[in-house]
Amino acid sequence: MEQKIKALEQLARPLEPDPAQRKALLDQVLQYTNQFINDLPNSKAYYESTHEGVALHELSIDERSVSIEELLKRYAFNVDETGLNPASGRHLGYIPGGGIFHSAIADYLAAVGNRYAGLFFGSPGAVRLENQVIRWLCSLIGYAEQGFGNLTSGGSIANLAAIASARDVKKIKSRNVETSVVYLTQQVHHCVLKALRIAGLWEAQIRTIKMDDRFRMRTDLLETSIQADIKAGLKPFLVVASAGTTDVGSIDPLDKIADIAEVYNLWFHIDAAYGGAFLLAAAENENDLNLKAEFKGIERSDSVTIDPHKGFFLPYGLGAILVKDISSLYKTNSFKANYLQDTYGTAEPSPSDLSPELTKHFRGLRFWLPLQLIGTAPFKAALEEKIWLTRYFYEKVQAIGFEVGPYPQLSVAIYRYVPSNNEEATDFNQAIVENLRKEGTFFVSSTTIEKVYWIRIAILSFRTHLREIDNYLAFLEGIVKSLEEEMFTKAQLQNHE
Ligand SMILES: *Cc1c(COP(=O)(O)O)cnc(C)c1O
Repeated sequence: MEQKIKALEQLARPLEPDPAQRKALLDQVLQYTNQFINDLPNSKAYYESTHEGVALHELSIDERSVSIEELLKRYAFNVDETGLNPASGRHLGYIPGGGIFHSAIADYLAAVGNRYAGLFFGSPGAVRLENQVIRWLCSLIGYAEQGFGNLTSGGSIANLAAIASARDVKKIKSRNVETSVVYLTQQVHHCVLKALRIAGLWEAQIRTIKMDDRFRMRTDLLETSIQADIKAGLKPFLVVASAGTTDVGSIDPLDKIADIAEVYNLWFHIDAAYGGAFLLAAAENENDLNLKAEFKGIERSDSVTIDPHKGFFLPYGLGAILVKDISSLYKTNSFKANYLQDTYGTAEPSPSDLSPELTKHFRGLRFWLPLQLIGTAPFKAALEEKIWLTRYFYEKVQAIGFEVGPYPQLSVAIYRYVPSNNEEATDFNQAIVENLRKEGTFFVSSTTIEKVYWIRIAILSFRTHLREIDNYLAFLEGIVKSLEEEMFTKAQLQNHE
């Protein structure tokens, strides 16, 4: 038997590379990532590949081993050079992500040590570290001592956590789902609706409250709707506001909604997945951005979603749910199990009591390390820069003939070009977006609001600066000019027929 065990140990040896092998692997990956970052100013924001990485299937998963050189080559072609490039400062679509280098280092550290960050008992240091990040986020919101939260994989899961706790704290049982009422607007992120469905609340009454001309919830209509529902014998229990909608970056009137939620005893959830980080630019001494007033009332909410993998420029995989009162997360998520009996009664809350997860990635390190390494000032400056860049773009894009949507509250703006023949506006703007995508230097996305097609710009990459915005404006101008010429020639030809 010993012989057999020793033979198996030999066969399993590749699981533990020796120091020279580790160095060789790291050297290769370091060379690759350095090249990747150095090339970013010239690489595309969007790769319109026809192969879409399909060649990856040639690498079957079996008992062979493949060299790191070969794998990196395949990776570059099939993964990094297809689709969107979120690391590019010219990614101006959807809500851009980040990918600061410090977080990559932190993920490496976390993976090598593999601390068990689900339970305080298992890794008091790791849990304390994550809890420090959570408390810092709570202080940004303005939550008092009872405030706490959980680091999730992203905003969708954070919204789901909030809705599950709202359901439990407000005692919505399956037998009264149909008479329970939720209030939101048409601009709420679709993952909120998804969360309602997953949380068993799809049969609840879901009221879509109309918005003002800046796409913010009309609080007068919220209140009359609640009153009508109460009169009809229904039970209003949840209002979901957005602090930074995905479409246009608008912030609902949080303070007024808080007033109403208080009067009618509603759970008040704020989806600030995108907008939440801007609290850092709004905090401390009021600067000339005048953002503080926009966020007023956020501290009165019951729960807030923030996505550090958006506004704090982290690589994908970090969201946060924050609650005014930690007991609400406990109510939904904490369970006792015999095999965990050694882990109870610890000095700090454990993530596993506040989330559906038990074993989890030590994800807090990727936020904590950069905050410690470079401090909060560069984040704050970058966020202020994004807002100014958006205001700058909003002015300049009008100067080159574009129509614009409402003045941007954060770092998203919508705009469209109305050619002389108004009827073709949608086709024309679609053509602009298609042209941009084919070329790939910039990536933008579009949206349709109240039947009008708009091009969006969302400025949130830490690599987007004045140079990128000026280049984009020049690019837009060029496309418009050539499309107009094309239209003109077409019209001329038609006239000749
Ligand atoms: C991005 C976003 C979400 C979804 O978050 P994920 O991290 O993508 O799951 C939810 N709400 C808003 C407002 C968002 O911008």
